[in-house]
Amino acid sequence: MLDLNASVLLIYTGGTIGMIEDPETGTLKPYDFSHLKEQVPELNRLKFNIDSIQFQEPIDSADMNPEQWKKIVWIIEERYDQYDGFVILHGTDTMAYSASALSFMLENLNKPVILTGSQLPIGKIRTDGKENLVTALEIAVDKDPDGKAFVQEVCIFFQNLLMRGNRTSKISASYFNAFNSFNFPVLAEAGVKIHYRNDLMHRPLRNNSPKFHSSLDSNVAIVKIFPGISADILKAMIAIPHLKGIVLETYGAGNAPNQKWFLDIIEEAVNKGIVIVNVTQCASGSVDMRRYQSGKAMKDLGVISGYDITTEAAVTKLMFLFGLGLDRKEVKTYMKVSLVGEATIE
Ligand code: ASP
Repeated sequence: MLDLNASVLLIYTGGTIGMIEDPETGTLKPYDFSHLKEQVPELNRLKFNIDSIQFQEPIDSADMNPEQWKKIVWIIEERYDQYDGFVILHGTDTMAYSASALSFMLENLNKPVILTGSQLPIGKIRTDGKENLVTALEIAVDKDPDGKAFVQEVCIFFQNLLMRGNRTSKISASYFNAFNSFNFPVLAEAGVKIHYRNDLMHRPLRNNSPKFHSSLDSNVAIVKIFPGISADILKAMIAIPHLKGIVLETYGAGNAPNQKWFLDIIEEAVNKGIVIVNVTQCASGSVDMRRYQSGKAMKDLGVISGYDITTEAAVTKLMFLFGLGLDRKEVKTYMKVSLVGEATIE
């Protein structure tokens, strides 16, 4: 049900959707929001109110970082009561990281926050940007028959799918279906109508009002295991000053070399107080450290399972939990539970 008195805030951070070609180099560069608005006269035909705000300097999302996430949180926090929903225009390259980070930073949301963007700039005839933008805006104001927002969480809308933000990964650099949510079903599909899966939607805890967190700790790292990884590489990683957490991207069900040199370094890291979260390099499926010897050996040393969490969600969750000032024991405890539907804990 479209609420005609509804109001959406469109937050333009940059990304291909609003980019233009640099006449000298032919490369795409971020451009002003007014250009984007001119390219989508359809915005004037939507029957609800759309206000917009843009980053002072729109960015390629390759430049996205925790400082920018804080900016987005502040923008939403200051205006939370004024709007029914929020749409964030964002480059696709780091959109899954931003959606994951925001899902933790915007606690107890009871309104939609939808990120979208496009693979082709809005000025191109074949752009996917218009449809993504217009449908994201509609989802941001869509209400159930009781007048409650269908979506009350951070999502990515891309091509025709609405996905839980912290379950997404970018899967294509060239096709319009740029994102997938391998380990959790899509929350809505847009065709002639938008079909919502109400049974899958995350809901805030009853009577808990929204909380806006803006402190993140980036003393974390992602380490991807590969055949041939050396002790020197691993030792250099764990020697990084102030490092608090590592997302260890392992093979299959959470396996890594089952060799003494490897396990000794893992043990050293754990003893130094570094929280190590085991996530799989596979696009889908879950870590199960009870399944193989190598997984079990890491579990016994104190490595914790990320279950089926994405790398994007795991690394931003660590930043969030350490940003709350929690100690390593508390961080480990919260990594083992799903805070906002980011993991399926078995
Ligand atoms: N490099 C662009 C960005 O992430 C890619 C895109 O938007 O599709 O900002």
